[in-house]
Amino acid sequence: MLTSEYFINLEDQHGAHNYHPLDVVLVKGEGVWVYDVEGKKYLDCLSAYSAVSQGHNHPKIKQAMIDQLDRLTLTSRAFYNDKLGLLYKKLSDMTGYDKSLPMNSGAEAVETAIKVARKWGYHVKGVPRHKAEIIVADGNFHGRTVTIISFTSTPQYKDDFGPFTPGFPMVEYGDIKAIENAINENTVAIMIEPIQGENGVLLPPEGYLKAVEKLCRENNILFIADEIQTGLGRTGAFFACDHEGVRPDIMVIGKALSGGFYPVSAVLADESVLGLIVPGDHGSTFGGNPLGASVAIAALDVIEDEKLVENSRVLGQYMMDYLDEIPTKNILEIRGKGLFIGVELKHEFGGARRIAEVLRDKGVLAKETHEHTIRFAPPLVIDKETVDWLLPIVRDALLMD
Ligand SMILES: *Cc1c(COP(=O)(O)O)cnc(C)c1O
Repeated sequence: MLTSEYFINLEDQHGAHNYHPLDVVLVKGEGVWVYDVEGKKYLDCLSAYSAVSQGHNHPKIKQAMIDQLDRLTLTSRAFYNDKLGLLYKKLSDMTGYDKSLPMNSGAEAVETAIKVARKWGYHVKGVPRHKAEIIVADGNFHGRTVTIISFTSTPQYKDDFGPFTPGFPMVEYGDIKAIENAINENTVAIMIEPIQGENGVLLPPEGYLKAVEKLCRENNILFIADEIQTGLGRTGAFFACDHEGVRPDIMVIGKALSGGFYPVSAVLADESVLGLIVPGDHGSTFGGNPLGASVAIAALDVIEDEKLVENSRVLGQYMMDYLDEIPTKNILEIRGKGLFIGVELKHEFGGARRIAEVLRDKGVLAKETHEHTIRFAPPLVIDKETVDWLLPIVRDALLMD
């Protein structure tokens, strides 16, 4: 039988080393559980960065995909198909936005949002052509394209990859005054994550999102929320912005919209914004294809039918209450909302990877984000019994020497 070591070596030898995975080779997944080559079972506490919120291999999403595979997979947008309109309607019904624009990866959807906001700036706000500015936050993560890394603050993401796209002044995350100071007559949008996931589940101060929204209204600026990771129930609300009753002008979603089956992302906005896009402005060969649309509809159905938003809220709070009681020996800070939790370790502990490795040995897959934070974001279908199995294991790991 081929071993984990064999597959790890194969990847090492023939693949680009753009990731540093834990040494575990997965072959099967079902619900919150995944299995490795040797048959060992693990609880998935990463959920593919929240793309598998509905759990692995969800039977209803799988069936929707199979049904669609039997009929039609790709038409290109040169023709209509009988699934895309249904996805548009489902998204409008669930979110209240008039329209959406489908893409595939999250980064593509962010790029789309940037283009839409710039066009709005030139056609509606009257900003001189090619002068538009979009304010972004320090510590952001919006993807990996050249334009997006042009405004990252993580040196490794950008330092070897310039020249860069201009037009993205950066301010400190969570500081409303900093945004105020950065606004000028060419500002068309502010783009932020309501919680910075890749930056270690960093929550802004309470009231920040509401203040950003207010600032946007007062200055005729679009509020773009990147909810690719935080959206669709992850934080215990459908959108993380809902916690503050905030309604961004442009909402970017992806990850869990795929149900873990097939990449689907989207930009949501009202007619006054997305209505500016005309044929030829933007496109994608695969974006909006009937296979992806069918999967996304089923993925959204599961979130609704299985009340995953509520489960995230209730079990997330339950987990936080437990974690807060653990002696702070190695713990610097515990942050989170819903089933989106980051534990930052004291920096003298020497990095969260050691914890991730101990957890793996105990049958729990979690991953460090940056160096010192470990993230717990299990599929939202997790039940209390499984959380009760998980928590003592996490406690022991966090108390290690
Ligand atoms: C993952 C992520 C992206 C990028 O999505 P990809 O599908 O990897 O391109 C963008 N923004 C946020 C907040 C993310 O978490």
